[in-house]
Amino acid sequence: MNPRSASILERPIEYLKGVGPQRGALLQSELGIFTCGDLLQHYPYRYIDRTKINRITDISPESQYIQLKGYITDINVIGDKQNKRLVAIFEDQSGAVELVWFRGISYMEKYLQKNVEYLIFGKPNFFRNTVNFPHPEIEALSEQKSPETAARLQAMYPSTEKMKARGLDSKGMAKLLRTLLELLPPHELPEFLPEWLLQGYHLLPRYETYKNLHIPDTEYLIAQAQHRIKFEELFFIQLRILKIKEKHQKTQGFVWGELGAHFNTFFKEHLPFELTDAQKRVIKEIRKDTLNGIQMNRLLQGDVGSGKTVVALMCMLMAADNGFQAALMAPTEILAQQHFNSLSAMLQKMDLRVDILTGSIKGKKRRHLLEELQLGMIDVLVGTHALIEDNVLFKNLGFVVIDEQHRFGVAQRAKLWEKNQLPPHVLVMTATPIPRTLAMTVYGDLDVSVIDELPPGRKAIITAHRFESSRLQVFQFLKEQIAEGRQIYIVYPLIEESETLDLKNLQEGYENIVRVFPMPEYQVSIVHGKMKPAAKDAEMQRFKNGETQIMVATTVIEVGVDVPNASVMLIENAERFGLSQLHQLRGRVGRGAKQSFCILMSDYKLSQEARQRLQTMTETNDGFKIAEVDLKLRGPGDLEGTQQSGIATLRMANLIKDQDILQIAHQAAAEMLALDADLILPQHLPLRQHLTQLRKKQGLQWGKIS
Ligand code: ADP
Ligand code: MG
Repeated sequence: MNPRSASILERPIEYLKGVGPQRGALLQSELGIFTCGDLLQHYPYRYIDRTKINRITDISPESQYIQLKGYITDINVIGDKQNKRLVAIFEDQSGAVELVWFRGISYMEKYLQKNVEYLIFGKPNFFRNTVNFPHPEIEALSEQKSPETAARLQAMYPSTEKMKARGLDSKGMAKLLRTLLELLPPHELPEFLPEWLLQGYHLLPRYETYKNLHIPDTEYLIAQAQHRIKFEELFFIQLRILKIKEKHQKTQGFVWGELGAHFNTFFKEHLPFELTDAQKRVIKEIRKDTLNGIQMNRLLQGDVGSGKTVVALMCMLMAADNGFQAALMAPTEILAQQHFNSLSAMLQKMDLRVDILTGSIKGKKRRHLLEELQLGMIDVLVGTHALIEDNVLFKNLGFVVIDEQHRFGVAQRAKLWEKNQLPPHVLVMTATPIPRTLAMTVYGDLDVSVIDELPPGRKAIITAHRFESSRLQVFQFLKEQIAEGRQIYIVYPLIEESETLDLKNLQEGYENIVRVFPMPEYQVSIVHGKMKPAAKDAEMQRFKNGETQIMVATTVIEVGVDVPNASVMLIENAERFGLSQLHQLRGRVGRGAKQSFCILMSDYKLSQEARQRLQTMTETNDGFKIAEVDLKLRGPGDLEGTQQSGIATLRMANLIKDQDILQIAHQAAAEMLALDADLILPQHLPLRQHLTQLRKKQGLQWGKIS
C-alpha cells in the first residue's frame, strides 16, 4: 500500500514515525497490528494514577496492584537453568521488597541501575516472610520527562518480552499512540453512528473516544470512552443477530391447521399427570408458531426435571394430527434409548408408531427401518446423530426436537432443515439455562420459551459437601436410604486427558463399594463410556427396574436418565466437575415424591474456584443462578454459538460483566432495524460502509447460522 495513502488509518504501521521495518514486523507478528488503524485498536488494559504512591510497610496480603517509589540496592542472578531468576532488592524509606524476573534476565540485568530512583508497579506476592513482585513494571523517574508519563493518568498497554526488548514496552506503545493521534485530524476518524443514536444513547463521539482511551484526561472520560467501544461492539453483534432472525422470520414453514384426534385423545385419556402452568404456556407458544406459516426455530429452556419431554411429545402429536412425521435427536445412545422407552410407554395406547435409529442399528434391520420411514410407516423416530445422515429419508418430516442442545453443533442443526421440501419446525431443548440477556445473543436467532416451574410435589434436593473423613457416615447414610427402598447413584469423573487413570479410579471405587455393600444384600451396577452399548443398556435397565440399588457410573448418566426412585446422588471428586455438570447430575434425583440428597465428596485441598463451585451447589438449586455463577467463573467461551455470533471478536466488551450494556445495545439495534432495516437512509450510509469493512476484515458470514 502507498505510504502516502489518503487515509492515515490504512497506512502500514512501519511508516508511522518511531516504528520502522523492524518494529513494524514485530508489531505484526506479536500483536497482529498491520496498519495505523489496528494500532488505534490496541486498547490499554489499565490506567495508573501516577500521583498515588504506596509505602512498602503498608503492603498486606490483600493488596492489589500498587505503585512504589524507591531505589534498587542489590541485584543478583540466582538458581540454575530451570530455576534461573533475577532478584533485585527494592527499598523505599519504609522497607524492602524483592523484584523478580524469570524471563528477559540479561536485558533487565543491563537495564537496572543502583542510585537511580524508580517507580515500580505490580501485584505483591507473599512467599514465606518476604514480599516479592514478579515481573513488575518499572521505570526510572528521570525518564519521566516525556508526555506519556508526565500526565496524571497513564495508559498501560499489553506488550510482550520480545517487544520490550525493542523498546516497545507499555510506555513505548503509549508513545506510538500519541504520535498517531497527533497526526490524525478528526475528519480522518469520522463518526459512523448516526446522530440520533449518539444523542439517544449518550455516546461519546468516535474521535473523542479514541483520544480519551489513549491520552486520558479524567477517569470519567475513560469510562465514557470504554462504554462507547463496548456499546459499539455489542451493537454490531445485535444488528447481525436481529438480521438473521428477520431472515428466519421470512422462511416459510408448514401450517398445522388441525388439532385432532391424537393430541386430544392423549391429553384427555393418557396424560399421566396434570401439566404445570409453565408446560401449558410453552405448548401454547409452540402451537402459535405452527399456525403462522413461518418455520419455527424455538429454544426451550427448562431446568433438569422440569418436564420438557412431555412438551416435546405433545408437539409431536400436533405434527401427527397434520400428517407429519416427527424426529427426536439426542446426544448419546443411552439417552436416545431412554427417550425411545419413555415415548413408547406414553404412546402405548395410541395408534402411532415410534422407532429408534442409532449407530448400532445396522444391516438388514437398518435398511428395513429406513424403508418404512420413507413410506411413512413410522410416525416418531428417536435417534442419535445417525438421524442426520444423508440416507435417512422421511416421507414427510414436519417436526424436529433436538434434546440437550449444547452437545450439537450449529451445522448439525442445519442438516435437519433439509429433510423436507420446507424445513420442519425445530424445537431445541436445553437444560443448561443461561441468563436471558446472554441467551439473546448466543441464541439470538431462536425464540426462547422457558419452563420456570417444577412439577408439583417435588421436594428441594438437600445438598452437602463432605470430605474423606466423613466417608463412613456417608456410607451409613446410603445404607439407611437403601433400607427405606431408595436407590443411589455414585458418580466418578472421567475426562479424556486422564482417561486411563480415571477408569482405574472408577474400578477401584466400584470394588470398594462392592466390599462395603456386599451381595446378596446389595446389588451394584456399573456403567461407563467404554462399555458396549448393549451392556450399558442392560445395566441401566437393571437399575431402572430396581434390581440393583446402587449405580456406579461415570458422567455417561449426566443427561436425561430418569429413575424416580433414586434419592441420593453421590459425586466423587466433585471438585473436578464443572458447575453445570454438577447441577445436571444432581437433577437425576429428586424426581419422586421422597426427599432426595446430593453429596459432594472432595479433597481437602481445593482451589478457590472449586470451593466456590461446591459452595454454590450447597446454597442453591436454581439452575439459572447456577448458570450465572458458572459464567462468571468460566466466561462464555465454551458456550455453543459464541463463535457464530461473532462474540469471539469482542475486544473490550465482556458478555458477563457488560450485560447491562448488552441490553442497551440490543434495544438500539432493534430500534435501528425498525427505522431502516437495510441501512439505506443517507444518515446510515457511514454505518453501512463501516459494517461492510468490518465484515471484510473479520471474514464474517451473514449466512444461515442455525
Ligand atoms: P427434563 O426437563 O429434565 O427432560 P423430564 O421431561 O425427563 O425432565 O421430566 C422429569 C420427570 O417429571 C419425568 O419423570 C416426568 O414424567 C415427570 N413430569 C413431567 N411433567 C410433569 C408434571 N406436570 N407433573 C408431574 N410429573 C411430571
Ligand atoms: Mg430431558
